[in-house]
Amino acid sequence: MGEKIIELKNLSKSYPMGVAALKALNNVTLSFAAGEFAGLIGPSGSGKTTLLNIIGSLDLPTSGSAKVLGQKIEKLSPKQAAALRNFAIGFIFQTFNLLPVYTVYENIEFPLLLQPQLKPARRQAMVRQALEWVGLADRAGSRPKQLSGGQCQRVAIARAIVKNPRLVLADEPTANLDAQNSASIMEIMKKLNKELNTTFIFSTHDEKVIKHLRRKIRLADGRVASDESIPRCRC
Ligand code: ADP
Ligand code: MG
Repeated sequence: MGEKIIELKNLSKSYPMGVAALKALNNVTLSFAAGEFAGLIGPSGSGKTTLLNIIGSLDLPTSGSAKVLGQKIEKLSPKQAAALRNFAIGFIFQTFNLLPVYTVYENIEFPLLLQPQLKPARRQAMVRQALEWVGLADRAGSRPKQLSGGQCQRVAIARAIVKNPRLVLADEPTANLDAQNSASIMEIMKKLNKELNTTFIFSTHDEKVIKHLRRKIRLADGRVASDESIPRCRC
């Protein structure tokens, strides 16, 4: 396993609830190495999305520290946090979150437009490569409403990986997919993990995702209840 790219120390996140506070995360300490294929597993409300959002610098902890790709999340300015997300982190959501008026190609190209130093020819090559990775080269001109849910999620995967991020955060990526589409997107992500060494962290309670994970971190009421890894096969 590679270098540590995420170090979370005593992370807590509370939301005010009348006179009390709801602890969405309660003293979470975890680290992740480059190249992991790991999942946060737990029932609805256990804190999975809150934790992914903090790792992705979309949200801040109430206390504790989070170091992601060498940067302390709680110390970043909004501009620095945006740069970290734009260059180094890909996001995949349960509801795909594609832009409906744009084509598949334009949806995938979108994050690259946030990197103004990229020349158009390079950008085009990167989008083409991402389309190949997810097997949608022939649908570049389609719009999301012309695609199935499985195809939409493949576009979302392409959009997440097009900038070749070191880290991809996938929040319940199969929640809206049937068994066959879930299996197919997991195979794509496993391949990206193996061939590009992209680190994947999922949140899920779907057995179809869980069986593919090399590390399973169970959350319960905002705490880490267990953390098991399967050693990498050396055969
Ligand atoms: P999961 O993704 O495992 O379903 P979440 O991280 O979304 O869990 O939520 C953890 C807990 O925090 C839940 O009790 C949820 O209701 C609460 N929570 C999440 N976001 C907010 C928010 N913005 N305001 C208040 N409570 C929230
Ligand atoms: Mg969630």
